[in-house]
Amino acid sequence: MTTSKLPDVGTTIFAVMSKLAQDTGAINLSQGFPSFDPPDALLERVAFHLKNGANQYAPSNGVMDLLEAIAAKIETHQQYSVDPAEELTVCTGATEGMFSAITALIRRDDEVILFDPAYDAYEPAIRLAGGKAVHVPLALSDDRFSIDWQHLTSALSNKTRAIVLNFPHNPTGAVLDASDLDQLAELVRSRDTLLLSDEVYEHIVFDGRKHLSLGAHEELREKTLVISSFGKTFHATGWKVGYVAAPAELTREFRKVHQFATFSVNTPVQHALADFMSAHPDFYDELSSFYEQKRERFVDLLAETRLRCAPTPSTFFQIVDYSAVSDLPDTEAAIEMTEKHGVAAIPLSVFCEKPFTGQRLRFCFAKSDAELVEAAKRLARL
Ligand code: PMP
Ligand code: GLN
Repeated sequence: MTTSKLPDVGTTIFAVMSKLAQDTGAINLSQGFPSFDPPDALLERVAFHLKNGANQYAPSNGVMDLLEAIAAKIETHQQYSVDPAEELTVCTGATEGMFSAITALIRRDDEVILFDPAYDAYEPAIRLAGGKAVHVPLALSDDRFSIDWQHLTSALSNKTRAIVLNFPHNPTGAVLDASDLDQLAELVRSRDTLLLSDEVYEHIVFDGRKHLSLGAHEELREKTLVISSFGKTFHATGWKVGYVAAPAELTREFRKVHQFATFSVNTPVQHALADFMSAHPDFYDELSSFYEQKRERFVDLLAETRLRCAPTPSTFFQIVDYSAVSDLPDTEAAIEMTEKHGVAAIPLSVFCEKPFTGQRLRFCFAKSDAELVEAAKRLARL
């Protein structure tokens, strides 16, 4: 008999809800992926490189043209410099970036703080590395989620090896402001605590705000691995290409694992991303306004239903309070909504250690207008 290393872990909610949506023919607003393609100019570059010999292993750290394009993007958008040769690594999506970072840096009995609701890939990686996840719920007030500093402070111990941060936050859309970063810096100043910062939604921030990367903070930078992805940024979640930016010493440790977890990442896509990023440095600005319009549309449509929400500050996820239409716990409400009403969403409690009592579901609005309109029509019947 095999003794499971993760006996309590089942199938990720994203696979479960997408399958249920498919089986029942529901509109799938659960798993986060756009229902539109990457820009044509990017697709053309992929086709070009596929046809022009970029079909063998890339260097393990990434294609130099792409590493330089990422460094230029960081310089433009976050105003700090990274050395593409020593401080950047291309990885197989943020998932591999986070997994390799945790495997490289978390030791037996280390504690790692997660903010609940926490993206579901973090904890299994921590446990497989021999560490222990310590869950700190985000505070919820007036439909806004934020860091509970008091709770975070009390969760820190001399075993805290790392804090996983994910802002812009999936699923709640919470973002950090400059005072949050300063407060974090103060908290970890005299500690040997690393910061694993999942910033995959860095370019999808609304209402005139700007994403503040932990890497851009003078003091936090030396303790931080910034983990990002091109999946959300270029409407290409199926490509699984991301990157990790970290000081040279941390990058060296990261690469020791990355080289054996995956060795290298899809070569033609790396070249294509490098070409596209160099030719379209303003693409990112359009992305936030593109999704802000989607958010406005979706929130307007939801106003015709009995579901309630505060417009999300970032990401392409909208948290919705369904307490006016159902008393069911969120996992059951999500299944019922999919099976009976034809719209699939993600329950929040699966991302929380303590029972999450708020009746909230997450809807993905990275969808065509027609899909959003039809989904709202169905939700209006609730
Ligand atoms: N972290 C978060 C918070 C996510 O929402 C996702 C999904 N894009 C990932 C990591 C995984 O990213 P990737 O598909 O690049 O592995
Ligand atoms: N990040 C995506 C989401 O939050 C899902 C990724 C996955 O399916 N593993 O919906």
